[in-house]
Amino acid sequence: MPARHAVRIRARPGGPIRRPPLEEEHLPMHVAVIGAGVVGVCTAHWLRAAGHDVTVIDRRANVAQETSFAPAAIAAPALAVPWSAPHMPGRWLRNWLRPHGPVVLRPGLSPANWLWLIRWLGESRARRFVANQERLRRLALLGREASLALIAEREIDSRDRAGCLRLFRSERALAAATAQLPVLADAGFIVEEASPERCREIEPALSDELPLAGGLSLPDARTGNVAWFTRQLKRALMADGVRFHFRAEVNELDVSGGRPRLRLRATPELQDPDLTWHPPSAPDTLEPDAVVLCTGTDSAGLLRRLGCSPGFVPVRGYSITLGIRRHERAPLAAVIDEATGVSITRMGNRMRVAGGVELGARRELSADGPVPEALWRVMRGWFGGAADLTCPQIWVGERALLPQGTPLLGATPHPAVFVNLAHGSHGWTVAAGAGQVLAELVSGRPAPIDLDGLTLASLRR
Ligand SMILES: Cc1cc2nc3c(=O)[nH]c(=O)nc-3n(C[C@H](O)[C@H](O)[C@H](O)COP(=O)(O)OP(=O)(O)OC[C@H]3O[C@@H](n4cnc5c(N)ncnc54)[C@H](O)[C@@H]3O)c2cc1C
Repeated sequence: MPARHAVRIRARPGGPIRRPPLEEEHLPMHVAVIGAGVVGVCTAHWLRAAGHDVTVIDRRANVAQETSFAPAAIAAPALAVPWSAPHMPGRWLRNWLRPHGPVVLRPGLSPANWLWLIRWLGESRARRFVANQERLRRLALLGREASLALIAEREIDSRDRAGCLRLFRSERALAAATAQLPVLADAGFIVEEASPERCREIEPALSDELPLAGGLSLPDARTGNVAWFTRQLKRALMADGVRFHFRAEVNELDVSGGRPRLRLRATPELQDPDLTWHPPSAPDTLEPDAVVLCTGTDSAGLLRRLGCSPGFVPVRGYSITLGIRRHERAPLAAVIDEATGVSITRMGNRMRVAGGVELGARRELSADGPVPEALWRVMRGWFGGAADLTCPQIWVGERALLPQGTPLLGATPHPAVFVNLAHGSHGWTVAAGAGQVLAELVSGRPAPIDLDGLTLASLRR
């Protein structure tokens, strides 16, 4: 076993992080955050903590209604690995060809999808992967530190569960993963090799329907509920004076003058039918001092106004959330089935199975589509009989993914407009750290981590 170098990162004691005072030109500004997913709301937290007057705008009727609604929500810096990795094209191909595999390329892929796939293959070469992985992990480590600080500062009951187990069906795949353990240990991650018996000690309900060669245990990974967390954070921010304008779509970002000007359109059609609270109407225009785009997959229109087209595409994934019928058969925390990339997580009295890759024209969401079918199979394979199948909540979400799998943070060609985008399949892991980076940059201070490879400017190089 490799030596374990534990990196225990704790929330800073004594409340808000102390920062140097703002230069006069950056003195409390009015900052508009567009997008109230987990990334936008975390960004609003750090901007408010830096002393700014913050307005969050979203076309939906509440926070976390799009990609942040029902993802798997496993956060572990050791798992912050870009999807453009040397082993991934093979895994996608196998899962695409498999009769019930969770990878689906729908007919009618757009030219943008094809271009993305070609660039993704290029980024999967070993040298490119190592560089991209280092960039993503840098942000994921900051994400862990920043989320602990945020949870402590805002006194959020995050309801997180600790621990995640990666399950390997074949000796070959397990050997390839364990070969990486010394590298992970040197980088300070706690990852423990687990025999099949040890896997069953960690997750006693694991069934023996699928072959189990062994696992890797990540005791300091955490699994949360992204929508719950984001709603708690919204509540704390509202109490601290942050304004939220819902059902308001920013359909124009005018940067022709010195100051950005936002035009808003009311979107009553995007109401959440379950919402009993109706937020007041948003104004028609806003002229903040600075704008941060946290608009997830649907950012192309606003980015075009800035002369940018970074080339990320929406890669769809699914989740099925179910009540638990037999607790003794259910997972205690989180497992990831390495053969398919599908995860199964425990969320209080419910469990969620999530994953899949779907590119191309979107079809009606249905419980027996190819990806949901693959999720059902993985869930039944590892935790058969655990779930109450009567009322499943089936969800599809779109991950904004660059071919290199790294997010885009910070400056744009307009000095008062910033981006916090393209978090792919790691948005929950990095949201708090990415928000902290943005707040520092908007405030005219250096970012807390090296942003090499994580900016729009680095894409152009
Ligand atoms: C199946 C699946 C599993 C996942 N599992 C994990 C995991 O285990 N760990 C992990 O770290 N991450 C995971 N993720 C990724 C994570 O969920 C996302 O990266 C994260 O939720 C993205 O958050 P966001 O705030 O950027 O986007 P979103 O939540 O989509 O928020 C963007 C918001 O912008 C708003 N918006 C867009 N345009 C406008 C406009 N013009 N005007 C007003 N509002 C606008 C939208 O309404 C939306 O609310 C998973 C994703 C999927 C799909």
